[in-house]
Amino acid sequence: MGDKTILDVKDLSTHYFTSKGVVKALDDVSFQLKGGKSLGVAGESGCGKSTMAYSLLKMVQPPGRIVKGSINLDGMEVTKLDENSARKKLRWQKVSMVFQGAMDIMTPVYTVGHQMKEPLRYLMDITGDEAEEICKKYLDMVDLDFELFNRYPHELSGGQKQRIIIATALLLEPDVVILDEPTTALDVVVEARIMNDLKILKKQLDNGMIFITHDLSILAEISDDLAVMYAGWIVELGDSKKIYRDPKHPYTKKLIAAIPRLHVDIDRLEYIPGAPPELTNPPKGCRFHPRCEHAFGRCNKEEPEEHDVDGILVKCHLYDERGN
Ligand code: SF4
Repeated sequence: MGDKTILDVKDLSTHYFTSKGVVKALDDVSFQLKGGKSLGVAGESGCGKSTMAYSLLKMVQPPGRIVKGSINLDGMEVTKLDENSARKKLRWQKVSMVFQGAMDIMTPVYTVGHQMKEPLRYLMDITGDEAEEICKKYLDMVDLDFELFNRYPHELSGGQKQRIIIATALLLEPDVVILDEPTTALDVVVEARIMNDLKILKKQLDNGMIFITHDLSILAEISDDLAVMYAGWIVELGDSKKIYRDPKHPYTKKLIAAIPRLHVDIDRLEYIPGAPPELTNPPKGCRFHPRCEHAFGRCNKEEPEEHDVDGILVKCHLYDERGN
C-alpha cells in the first residue's frame, strides 16, 4: 500500500442522545492514515478516543450515532453501511480492533486454536490445515509458539493472551488495525515487550495502525503521527516526534509536561487544573478555555479554527493572533 491513503476521515461527529441531553462525544474530527503508517490517539478519559474507534468500526450503539461526516476506508464509505454489511464486509476484513482489556474476552471453554480460527471460518470459509497455517504465521509474528494453539486461556499468562488477541486481529489482513490501550492491564516489563513486538509488526505489515492510549510517552515511541484529543475535538495533529519535542497546543504542552522523566530534576510534576467538561454542555468557544492558562478574550466566545503551524495542525486562537 506504500504511501496510499487508506483511511480518510472528514468532519466526523458522533453524538449520544441521552435523557440528560446530547453528549457531543466526537465533533468535526478529520484525519488521514496511510498504508504502513501508524496514528497515535491520546487524551484524557472521555475525550472521544474510544467513540472514534467505534465509529470507524460502525459499532456505535444506541443512543449514540454518527450524525455527520464521512469515513472513507479504501473506497468504502463506512458511515453508509447497514449492520449486516458492516458485519460481513467491514469488521475483521477492512478494520479490526483490539479492545481495551481484550485479554479477558477469551472464552475459557475453548482452546486458543478454536477461538483464533473463528473469523477465518465464518468470514472467509477457511478451515482445516489452511486455517492453522494462517494462525501459525500470525502467532509467529507476535513471538508465540504454535504449541499454545491447543491450550486453554487459563493456561496462559496475561501477556500471552494479549498477544493472541493481537495476532487474531491481524488474521484477515485488514487495512486498519485499531489497538485501544493494548497494554494497560499488563506490568511494565510485559508492556515493553509487547510494544516492541508492535513496532516490529508495524515494519513487517503494510496496513495502517491506530494506537489509542492516555500514555503519550508510548505513542511518541510507536506512532508516526499523533492526534491529541480534548473534549471530542482533535486539538493537535501531525508528526508525533515533532509534537513530542515541541508541542504547540496549550493542552498538549501540559500533557507532555506531566510525564515523569527519570533524568530531569524537578520539584513537582505539572498537572492540568480542573476536569474535562460535561459534553452535554461543553464550554462555549474553546472547550479547553476553563483550564487553559493562556486563555484570552475570544477563547470563551469563538470556537478556534485549525491552523497549520510548521506542518502541525493546531486548533487554538493563539495562532490566529500570531498570524495577525
Ligand atoms: Fe487556550 Fe484559547 Fe488556545 Fe483554547 S484557544 S487552548 S483557551 S489559548
